[in-house]
Amino acid sequence: MKYISTRGSAPALGFEDVLLTGLAPDGGLYVPETLPRFTQEEIASWAGLPYTILAFNVMYPFVEGSIPENDFRLMIDETYAVFDHTAVAPLVQLDQNEWVLELFRGPTLAFKDFALQLLGRLLDHVLKKRNERVVILGATSGDTGSAAIEGCKHCDNVDIFILHPHNRVSDVQRKQMTTVLGDNVFNIAIEGNFDDCQQMVKDSFNDQSFLSGTRLVAVNSINWARIMAQIVYYFSASLSLGGPSRSVSFSVPTGNFGDIFAGYLARNMGLPINQLVVATNKNDILHRFISQNDYKLEGLHHTLSPSMDIMVSSNFERLMFDLYGRDGLALAGQMEAWKKQSGAIEEYRWLAARKLFDSCSVNDDRTCEVIKEVFDQTEYLIDPHTAIGVEAARICRRDGSIPMVTLATAHPVKFPEAVEKSGVGITPELPHHLADLYERKESYEVLPNNLSEVHAYVVKHRRS
Ligand SMILES: *Cc1c(COP(=O)(O)O)cnc(C)c1O
Repeated sequence: MKYISTRGSAPALGFEDVLLTGLAPDGGLYVPETLPRFTQEEIASWAGLPYTILAFNVMYPFVEGSIPENDFRLMIDETYAVFDHTAVAPLVQLDQNEWVLELFRGPTLAFKDFALQLLGRLLDHVLKKRNERVVILGATSGDTGSAAIEGCKHCDNVDIFILHPHNRVSDVQRKQMTTVLGDNVFNIAIEGNFDDCQQMVKDSFNDQSFLSGTRLVAVNSINWARIMAQIVYYFSASLSLGGPSRSVSFSVPTGNFGDIFAGYLARNMGLPINQLVVATNKNDILHRFISQNDYKLEGLHHTLSPSMDIMVSSNFERLMFDLYGRDGLALAGQMEAWKKQSGAIEEYRWLAARKLFDSCSVNDDRTCEVIKEVFDQTEYLIDPHTAIGVEAARICRRDGSIPMVTLATAHPVKFPEAVEKSGVGITPELPHHLADLYERKESYEVLPNNLSEVHAYVVKHRRS
């Protein structure tokens, strides 16, 4: 499988190099040159398979030629064995023909574990084979950092440094990162905000000379391997609900557009998906684009669903690439034009997206109301991100006879503020495997908002 850049002028790469690269040198994102396509008979024959076998069937075409079949099977088995439910991604019914897909059964209680647990193992495999070491540098406002640390803590050839804004992540989120005490795990609290952290990571990727030759690897959601791992649960949900002979719709709480883009790929690989709902919070640029063909940047709003507080959704470019007929140079022109002045794209391109996508933006007050409504209807507690997905699903649904599945992206215990504000009157509890989180020893370094001090720290502590 070859991967090409969405901006059309970077060389094509194989899976291994895409795994170890962030942005393409032309500023684009890597996508498969051609998608694998499965027949309806083939998909139907996967009904009832364990999640791990399904995952192998769906993902193997993407890594073929790079990762031997048996190694990949083993990695997948290990990855999903750390989840606390044997179905891995279980479905829960909310109402007639309405479901949530629980994607928070992994070690850090958010869907990012699906990809980052696998990413850590893929990196380990590839780096051992090449006898290479890398440094991972990432910034997090919450969920990504802990999932990346959990995913990479056993990787011998990786040192991982995660920056978070000092005193600006929740206690649960901080402890999920800082209580992982591996030789290769370094948490840095920056005296600044999330944007400062992210800027430092960007600057470090642009000039990696401080590492004198060691490669820097990105674990943010532009990494192709993360998207790939997220395709699988669309297949598993559909197969549980009568697919592929019956089509299914999904509503996806959206920030960087990675998770919902995986659903779009599942459909292009042959899975009958009727409708994809982009659910956003007050940061609604994607909602304005989908509903009105208006792509305009606004300032960042802080909401009760912080994992979706994003101004520019990086993976959206991967959809745009298809809307531009996979013409990278034309897309590069549009992306440059959007930098100067945002606005609409040609109507026919936008209409092509509208065939599949609907969207909705949900504010904080309504998010809390939905948590309460769902709890009153079912005694099932959802987190604020999931609540936005459920509301969007209910508002945008086109056809009540088609099952609607909302992706439950996080466990409510991670977001106690929204749960409390909703007035459900209960406090969510940590699952067993994290029950002693508050007693665990923490370790992190507080550093000033200064790039050279961060670089000095990384150089001093990395193991090679
Ligand atoms: C990361 C995250 C999202 C957004 O996912 P994208 O792939 O960035 O669109 C939604 N909900 C939760 C809980 C998350 O952690």
